[in-house]
Amino acid sequence: MAHAEECPFCAELQHIRELNEYLVKSGNRPGKTRIEYRVALVQNTNYNGYSCGSSTSQSFPLNCCPVCGREIGNVDLVEGG
Ligand SMILES: [Zn+2]
Repeated sequence: MAHAEECPFCAELQHIRELNEYLVKSGNRPGKTRIEYRVALVQNTNYNGYSCGSSTSQSFPLNCCPVCGREIGNVDLVEGG
């Protein structure tokens, strides 16, 4: 996938999807596994160069890439069951 090589978020999503597919399909576990990919806003705060921590907002459906804007659509992984 050429696009994933250009955008770091798309590349990360592709890597995680491939890893999860491998783990779920090779796990040979009975029952149904569903993995949903979502997006959230992460806030990192620094004061005078010192990290004050971070917080993550509620998550939302991942309809498009927040970095390059590419439409992503449904990439959920459902296996078994
Ligand atoms: Zn992207």
